[in-house]
Amino acid sequence: MSERTGLDRRILARANALADELVAWRRYLHRHPELSFQEFETTAFLESRLKEWGLQPVRRTPTGLWADIDGTAAAPGGRRRTVAVRADIDALPIHELNDFEFRSARDGVMHACGHDGHTAILLGVARTLLEMRDELPGRVRLLFQPAEEQLPGGAPQMIAAGALEGVDEVIGLHLWSLLPTGKAGICAGPMMATADDFTIRVTGRGGHGAAPHEAVDALACAAQMVVALQQVVSRRVNPLRPAVLTVGTFRAGSNFNIIAQTAELTGTVRTFDEDTRRVIVAAMERIVEDTAAAFGAKGELDYRYGYPALVNDAAVTEVFRGAVRDVMGETALVDVEPFMGGEDFAYYLKERPGAFLFLGARNEAVGAHFPHHHPNFTVDEAALPYGVAVLTATAWRLLEGRAAGLATAAV
Ligand code: MN
Repeated sequence: MSERTGLDRRILARANALADELVAWRRYLHRHPELSFQEFETTAFLESRLKEWGLQPVRRTPTGLWADIDGTAAAPGGRRRTVAVRADIDALPIHELNDFEFRSARDGVMHACGHDGHTAILLGVARTLLEMRDELPGRVRLLFQPAEEQLPGGAPQMIAAGALEGVDEVIGLHLWSLLPTGKAGICAGPMMATADDFTIRVTGRGGHGAAPHEAVDALACAAQMVVALQQVVSRRVNPLRPAVLTVGTFRAGSNFNIIAQTAELTGTVRTFDEDTRRVIVAAMERIVEDTAAAFGAKGELDYRYGYPALVNDAAVTEVFRGAVRDVMGETALVDVEPFMGGEDFAYYLKERPGAFLFLGARNEAVGAHFPHHHPNFTVDEAALPYGVAVLTATAWRLLEGRAAGLATAAV
């Protein structure tokens, strides 16, 4: 048995000893959910906990904050590293249908994605690291981030405020209803998609349905655009790169004998990489502009960029995998496929190497089997100590320079 294994066991034991507090924090947060960019009470709650424990939270955004825990052990090789661990703290505009005694006290607002659990887990990481501070070989920055659920996202705000200054690597997790408690999954490279949306407006010239030659038919023009847009993924995008372009709505016309003056299309675009995204946007611009020109109409593409693709660093992913196996057990680690939802943790990964983990929190026995964003969503609280232990063990390994070692070895 290596010393490493001993440390992992102690991390897990401390995380398990926090189980009751983790549940209490999570339930308090669940009962008091706040919408994106409005997490004032949540941030105040976090601020007082962290101060109580002797930390100095830095608050440079209206909601959300970060705090550093400085270990007092010597850094391996003399290189002192900083690892950031992020939790998102916001809730959703959903009316909760659960009847727990800790159900949302706010009508129409609910923690329906598990961010209450993420926040409780990060508090648990703080407590664990504080108890083991004299062994910790570097600095861990706890990022409590607002507004994951609403564009433009809280992550860019935190980064602009300096949250990543001095940070070497960044990690985070999502409690995941598609995986049972006790399992965790991660994949190197792209794991979550860009999630963009668009509106296309076509302006023609209305007229009598019996005199098309005197009008410009916006409906016919937009119909050609819909057909042409189907060719973007099949003809413009590299077939080895996953992409979706969906036209979801088509609105045009007012009566059977009137030529539509305007037409409007809306839809969504999903990809896993920036190149593919650029190819799609460029192709859409050409189709909208040139098709409209060909019909003598005017076409406008209003393309709204969502979060970038979430791309896990290969070396940090390997370190995460090791921590999952060592802390949660050999059989805990499962393969997961990339998921086409969006996540603003992606912004941190554009700035620093890092990785994001899906942590199983599904358990039918406690009613934790509804999909994310469902009014009956809840997480299995038994997953919370695993979250604390895995994030702590991964951060610790990164402070020891494990990912940097892997990255060098790979070159
Ligand atoms: Mn979420």
